[in-house]
Amino acid sequence: MKRGIFCIVVAVASAAGAVALPDETCDVAVVGGGAAGIAAAIQSGRAGARTVLVEQGHQVGGNMTSGGVNFPGLFHAWGRQVIDGIGWEIVTNCVALDGRRLPDFSKPTGRQHWRHQVTVNIPLFVALAEEALVNAGVTVHYHSAPVRIERDGEMWKVHVAAVGDTRVISCRQIVDCTGNGAVVALLGLERLREERRQPGSFVYAVNPGVPMDTLDAKALSAAYADAVRNGRLQAHDARFGIMGFLRQHGNTANYVDDADNSTADLRTRTNMRGRASMLRMYRFLREQPGLANVRLEGMSPEVGIRETYRVRGEYLITHEDYTSGRRFDDSVCFAFYPIDLHDKESGIHPAHLQEGVVATVPLRALVVKGVDGVLAAGRCVSSDRLANSALRVEATCMATGQAAGAAAALAARHRTTALKVDFAELSALLRAHRAIVP
Ligand SMILES: Cc1cc2nc3c(=O)[nH]c(=O)nc-3n(C[C@H](O)[C@H](O)[C@H](O)COP(=O)(O)OP(=O)(O)OC[C@H]3O[C@@H](n4cnc5c(N)ncnc54)[C@H](O)[C@@H]3O)c2cc1C
Repeated sequence: MKRGIFCIVVAVASAAGAVALPDETCDVAVVGGGAAGIAAAIQSGRAGARTVLVEQGHQVGGNMTSGGVNFPGLFHAWGRQVIDGIGWEIVTNCVALDGRRLPDFSKPTGRQHWRHQVTVNIPLFVALAEEALVNAGVTVHYHSAPVRIERDGEMWKVHVAAVGDTRVISCRQIVDCTGNGAVVALLGLERLREERRQPGSFVYAVNPGVPMDTLDAKALSAAYADAVRNGRLQAHDARFGIMGFLRQHGNTANYVDDADNSTADLRTRTNMRGRASMLRMYRFLREQPGLANVRLEGMSPEVGIRETYRVRGEYLITHEDYTSGRRFDDSVCFAFYPIDLHDKESGIHPAHLQEGVVATVPLRALVVKGVDGVLAAGRCVSSDRLANSALRVEATCMATGQAAGAAAALAARHRTTALKVDFAELSALLRAHRAIVP
């Protein structure tokens, strides 16, 4: 009897297709809720714009939370703070609520720039960011992605699909914070992509179960090399070698080739390759002398992605701009990190900025070329490949996100485009929300 009722309900639901939810109208739609999208949406909401955030995943944070890369940097350069504002506010609230301390930013790090990154507790960060979004009046739609975007007079119509429902969001401005330029792709505009891209990394936690100094490093390294030679393991399952892997408890200690999350299909295969690598390593480790108590203690929901697409903006930031610390008339934020290109054969090549140099990002690099009413911030920011390898870090994503959110909110308010917004008004709005404008 119960089974019969269930079948009827299913039949009715499938005859009706996906549920069409009521249309929504807003000023700014932010697509993608990673480090950039969080800051963009909160800034837009706090500026009084009706703001919607569309995120395909189940939580905000992107690479920073779902990818396990929970160590945003760099907010400080050469002894002073260069990025403040909404991202810094959530990061410091998170550290305080977690009962931790910030690094001592007055101490120079030399080449160990990571010492000034701030480790955040992922569940706390997600919940605090969500709370800040709600307090800013932002409507959040998880599990959703735009599938079609069209112009309708002065408005964009963003057709969003999710499991079981669809929705049309009408808005004046769109901010693409997808990391991949997904909005730009739907509009048929240019995206930049390298033939050979940087690998991703899968963050998972392995506990050796014994102190490291009880392990026979030589024997383990030989066993690892053997396993790679005979195909049981792959060379990049442990990119710092087996001892480096164990010392880091597995954390980002591998490379995942061709990691790409720009479509559901690529993302599926990328995540499955990451988990297959984890399983290979774990099986291998359990068989090694001294590692009988090794434990797999957790994994991130997603493989971390370093490089997919970049958008083409009204300005494209070059390596030369970045490394010379070029100031533009329309610089909206600073950016500070070494050039950080990863190569699976030759490793990382960090190139540190010269003492005193801090790069900046112009508003024009956040404005998508060839269309009115679309901005892009975060990892997919308009830049060449080398500049992007530094601009993609989380503090900078937060700063570009906040700037794009502010520009979009003002453009919507004045019924104009981001490039026509009065730059003094934009700077004042950003500074009122504690951003540092160069
Ligand atoms: C292994 C690794 C190590 C790193 N190390 C550091 C480090 O030490 N310090 C540092 O600061 N940075 C580091 N980074 C870089 C940094 O983590 C990312 O570049 C940054 O988090 C990107 O932020 P984002 O908001 O631009 O994009 P993402 O974090 O990729 O967020 C994009 C969001 O958009 C969503 N999305 C995508 N497409 C759609 C769509 N079509 N519709 C709706 N939603 C969509 C995604 O689900 C995601 O939530 C590292 C990255 C990796 C992979």
